[in-house]
Amino acid sequence: MSNQGTPADDADVIIVGAGPSGATTAYYLAQAGVNVLLLEKARFPREKVCGDGLTPRAVKALISMGVDTSPDAGWLPNKGLRVIGAGMRLELDWPDLDAFPGYGLVRPRTDFDEVLARRAQAAGAKLLEEVSVTGPVLDDAGQIVGVSAREDGTAKTYRARVVVAADGNSSRLAVAMGLRKRDDRPLGVAVRTYYTSPRHEDDYLESWLDLWDGDKLLPGYGWIFGMGDGTSNVGLGLLNTSKAFGNTDYRDLLRRWLAGMPEEWGYTEENRTEPVRGAALPMGFNRTPAHYRGLMLAGDAAGMVNPFNGEGIAYAMECGEILSRVIAHALARPTRAETERVLRGYPQALRDAYGGYYALGRLFVQLIGRPELMRYATRKGMNRPALMRFALKLLANLSEPRGGDASDRVISAMTRLAPNPR
Ligand SMILES: Cc1cc2nc3c(=O)[nH]c(=O)nc-3n(C[C@H](O)[C@H](O)[C@H](O)COP(=O)(O)OP(=O)(O)OC[C@H]3O[C@@H](n4cnc5c(N)ncnc54)[C@H](O)[C@@H]3O)c2cc1C
Repeated sequence: MSNQGTPADDADVIIVGAGPSGATTAYYLAQAGVNVLLLEKARFPREKVCGDGLTPRAVKALISMGVDTSPDAGWLPNKGLRVIGAGMRLELDWPDLDAFPGYGLVRPRTDFDEVLARRAQAAGAKLLEEVSVTGPVLDDAGQIVGVSAREDGTAKTYRARVVVAADGNSSRLAVAMGLRKRDDRPLGVAVRTYYTSPRHEDDYLESWLDLWDGDKLLPGYGWIFGMGDGTSNVGLGLLNTSKAFGNTDYRDLLRRWLAGMPEEWGYTEENRTEPVRGAALPMGFNRTPAHYRGLMLAGDAAGMVNPFNGEGIAYAMECGEILSRVIAHALARPTRAETERVLRGYPQALRDAYGGYYALGRLFVQLIGRPELMRYATRKGMNRPALMRFALKLLANLSEPRGGDASDRVISAMTRLAPNPR
């Protein structure tokens, strides 16, 4: 494959970060016969702050990678989403579709990410753990041709024809190349922890649309996902369109929300098994362009979390598949200039896949930043199961891409018509 690489290259492609986006990109590239080096600063198994919830969209991405998603292989299936809001609760099954399986999953990120990284290795990618990338290596024209790294306390350099930043929300590599987050795009911040709870085998993912401390409405949205291992993953988040964003004590917010929960659920300090940890959710393409001075961005580094529901794993994996296709085609071109030309098509490929949908999502985030509007919508919506089923399809991005029923066609039309700026 490396007919135009130099003898100094360590691989055709270097991928920085072995989370879902990096591991998936590595898997598909290795399958296409590309020589891939996957550099990860941690050693597996490693923690990642997350809700650990997977919709059918993520399940589909796992199945495409040949992952066995059965309970015997350690996965806890779920039937849908339980929505709690305006004093009501509604159980909505995942939609019955040709395009997606009818179940979601839960799996702690400690082993989820390792499962994907091992799939990439089995496909032929070379994974180096405990290698922390410290910056880009540039050619005379300022294009990235490799990375510098720290390994066992020593400085190292790795070179390749293509470099991918799959290093998560903060993406030090993208920042070092001059690519910062966009202020005009949505960003969430969320905290989560685990409690021993009798609710640990819940077969619905539970989403709270309003959080109460007695009769005081708190800002943000919450979730409770049974982990199937004796614990629940409990967390809450805020969007940067909310007034409270940036001046909220998230841990205190969590404590106040949980104080109102039935005692028998067990969400108390004594039952907490992990520290409360937080992280950001970069949404709706909040770092662009996804190809810049030769660097390709994937997953959270490209700000690919769904603004409607905070789901990021499915998009990190899908984006990895799209990116791997672009890179495989680019590397097959005979000259470096032609390779670059194909790589330049990547941002458009992402826009084709998600541009309209994320544009709608950005609008949605603006609207729900207004609490009175959100309260009105929750009160009206929770009384209308058919409307909520439509909302689930839209918010979880689970509709038939072609054909389908009336609601699928409405969603297709909405995403087609949404303004889709760069
Ligand atoms: C509180 C919270 C709850 C969430 N809940 C959900 C949920 O329930 N479902 C869902 O789908 N999504 C959820 N998300 C979003 C999801 O976690 C991310 O979208 C997803 O992890 C993105 O994957 P990624 O591979 O792009 O990045 P990451 O998962 O962040 O992986 C980046 C990898 O790069 C490595 N790395 C970083 N810097 C370097 C470096 N310098 N050198 C080498 N390696 C490096 C890291 O160690 C890490 O392994 C949640 C996020 C938060 C913060």
